[in-house]
Amino acid sequence: MTFESLGLSPEILRAITDEGYTTPTPVQVQAIPLVLAGQDVQAAAQTGTGKTAGFTLPILHRLQPMASSSPSPARHPIRCLVLTPTRELAAQVQESVKTYGRYLALRSTVIYGGVAMPPQVKALQAGVEIVVATPGRLLDHVQQKTINLSQVEILVLDEADRMLDMGFIPDIRKIIALLPTRRQNLLFSATFSEDIGKLSKGILNDPATVEVARANATAMSITQLIYPVEAERKRALLTHLIRTLPIPQAIVFTRTKHGANRLCAQLEKEQIPAAAIHSDKTQSHRTRTLEQFKAGEVSILVATDIAARGLDIDQLPFVVNFELPHVPEDYVHRIGRTGRAGSQGCAISLVSPEESRERQAIESLIKQTIREEIPVNFEVIEPARRPAERRPLREADGRSRTDRRHVTRPPEGEAVAEQVVREPKVPRPVQEAPRSVYSHHHFSRPPLGLSGIKKHREIPALLGGLLKKAP
Ligand code: AMP
Repeated sequence: MTFESLGLSPEILRAITDEGYTTPTPVQVQAIPLVLAGQDVQAAAQTGTGKTAGFTLPILHRLQPMASSSPSPARHPIRCLVLTPTRELAAQVQESVKTYGRYLALRSTVIYGGVAMPPQVKALQAGVEIVVATPGRLLDHVQQKTINLSQVEILVLDEADRMLDMGFIPDIRKIIALLPTRRQNLLFSATFSEDIGKLSKGILNDPATVEVARANATAMSITQLIYPVEAERKRALLTHLIRTLPIPQAIVFTRTKHGANRLCAQLEKEQIPAAAIHSDKTQSHRTRTLEQFKAGEVSILVATDIAARGLDIDQLPFVVNFELPHVPEDYVHRIGRTGRAGSQGCAISLVSPEESRERQAIESLIKQTIREEIPVNFEVIEPARRPAERRPLREADGRSRTDRRHVTRPPEGEAVAEQVVREPKVPRPVQEAPRSVYSHHHFSRPPLGLSGIKKHREIPALLGGLLKKAP
């Protein structure tokens, strides 16, 4: 299947060629003909499947006959409205509209909160065919009568599941009430829940369904691993993995903004260039941070779920869950940051014994058991003896278990139980990144006797292609 055979216009095909895309992704193969035919579509497609181009390309094609080079605002009414849950996603979708529509005389703009209204008002007054917006700020414009939605022909709800989670549905209903009833509706969602079904029933008209991966399944190109580790040792393990795998660039997820700030400061202290991105940061700060990350000036982007939603960073080889999310669907969204559009990626979760419930919920959602790994050259506590199950330090024969195992003591003043670690003390993590991720020489023998846990050897091979390109 080629883009040409999908019947897209030469101008759009030219822009696709500029981007270096040769073959449409599965969601594009399915969605593009439906959208071109003017049908309503509901699509279960995760971020990373190429879904944005899946709706943007055919929309541009449909609007192309209305393109006008006239400066008159009246010749540029809003014909397509795309609603997204976050500012970042809105900005990225509009970037795609601009990229794929670069040879067309169609205008687009992005509308979101956290920035001044006047430039948005100016763009709207000049006339734009495609508006990508977050619901709250769009309603501000409605209230101030700075937007006219009466000629919208196509409505897109992108990441509808997240808009539902974030409580945007009442706002979305208000917005829909302002649109002409005769219009094409497209709804994209990473997962299809009952609530999404109800939502689409009320908005979509006899929709065609597109499903590229089983709902709630995770992209096959992502290798998922769990490193069991005590909560208080997560930071040390993260630093160790960054240095020894190595992890050239990653998004690291924390549950809270405060946690993101703290982790970021700690990584910086370890000379690992890191930046935090969350909703307390101003929009311009977030944009700048993202640019620095994309330029490779920042290696680790520490993010909360909401801030990271919709971040489109090409070929990100690693995503790290510093903490598992409370909501299992967030795990699917998080790991969707890697392994995008068929490229390979690795999602690493640092999981403490206290997170076993979250882990179970995730594994039952994705219907698979995530493989456990043990870090090489890093002391781990035998998973079988997590806090509740720790055995006494002295065995029946009276021989101290410390004969065979080390006892690590918590820092002064911390009321934490003694922790028994396996095997003789291993050297501190290597400080230098290995020359090549293909050479396995730096992987020493793992601690003995950890049955059922596989060794962390395959990752370099899995990610070879990507890491080779990394700086
Ligand atoms: P999305 O799922 O829309 O967030 O897209 C994920 C990434 O895939 C984006 O970085 C796109 O630039 C890229 N992409 C979209 N379509 C294709 C394609 N047909 N071939 C290669 N990459 C693509």
